Amino acid sequence: MTQFSKIVLETQETKEESAASGLTKVADGVFHTKIIFVGAYFVDTPDGCVLIDTGLPLSGGKIRRAAENHYGANSKPSAIILTHGHFDHAGAALALAEQWNIHIYAHRLEMPYLTGKSDYPPQDPTMGGAIAQMARFFPRGGYDFGSRVHQIPESGRIAEMPGWKILHTPGHTAGHISLWRESDKTLLAGDALATMNLDSWTSQITEKREFCNPPAPFTTDWQSARRSVELLADLEPNQVGAGHGQPMTGADTARRLKEFACNFAPPRKGRYVNNPAIADESGVIAVPRRFATTSKLSLALLSS
Ligand SMILES: [Zn+2]
Ligand SMILES: [Zn+2]
Repeated sequence: MTQFSKIVLETQETKEESAASGLTKVADGVFHTKIIFVGAYFVDTPDGCVLIDTGLPLSGGKIRRAAENHYGANSKPSAIILTHGHFDHAGAALALAEQWNIHIYAHRLEMPYLTGKSDYPPQDPTMGGAIAQMARFFPRGGYDFGSRVHQIPESGRIAEMPGWKILHTPGHTAGHISLWRESDKTLLAGDALATMNLDSWTSQITEKREFCNPPAPFTTDWQSARRSVELLADLEPNQVGAGHGQPMTGADTARRLKEFACNFAPPRKGRYVNNPAIADESGVIAVPRRFATTSKLSLALLSS
């Protein structure tokens, strides 16, 4: 089979799977929807459902229609949980939360970017690849969701989502979280990793399923990113839904994730490869100098 035929076939398979309802089943009561290039997830709960991530700004209509098609007219989630606050995950969060009159939940260390206190560290497109080229045009500003956004309890449990544990998986962002259901080993990993190669232009079309690095230009602490991937691999999930790429559901999912974690490699070059951006509850404190090439810590205080 030629490379071109393979690409066409893989693209068709992806389209057929999701054509029926607009939602793709990941596990019992867990459904994936794709908004241009990013995923959001509906998770069934005793009270209806919760929404994990909200896609891009202006994608609220598509998500609302998906909810109504799947759960019935006028149905709505009981909460929104954000894996992190990047524009492609939190873009429609406020509009949806206002329309549905529900809470948005995020991790304590993500709150500065959702309450108007801080922007994210600058993205770094210098490592090259498809996502890096596109990232030049993406915003990094924070949002202000005011009283709509609430901190996830330290217990990692949210009343609206029984049976699920929220895990702090920093690296891509400081307050990034993943969601874990032990009963059937289902993992929603946000941008802690990807299930397609975001650096490849071909994969932007085929979405070939494979475990890959988190979106590199926006990942600002690669040591933490590695530890988070190792933590997730140790869970040995049966199915994994990520922010980018189609969900991984094959019998060899846990093995493939282990293999990815063992071979985890940050980009060969890049602003944050050797030194992380530093952030706390108030937001970004310091970022490495723009073209740092050694492992020597060379932080430029944002205020200087
Ligand atoms: Zn992200
Ligand atoms: Zn993303």
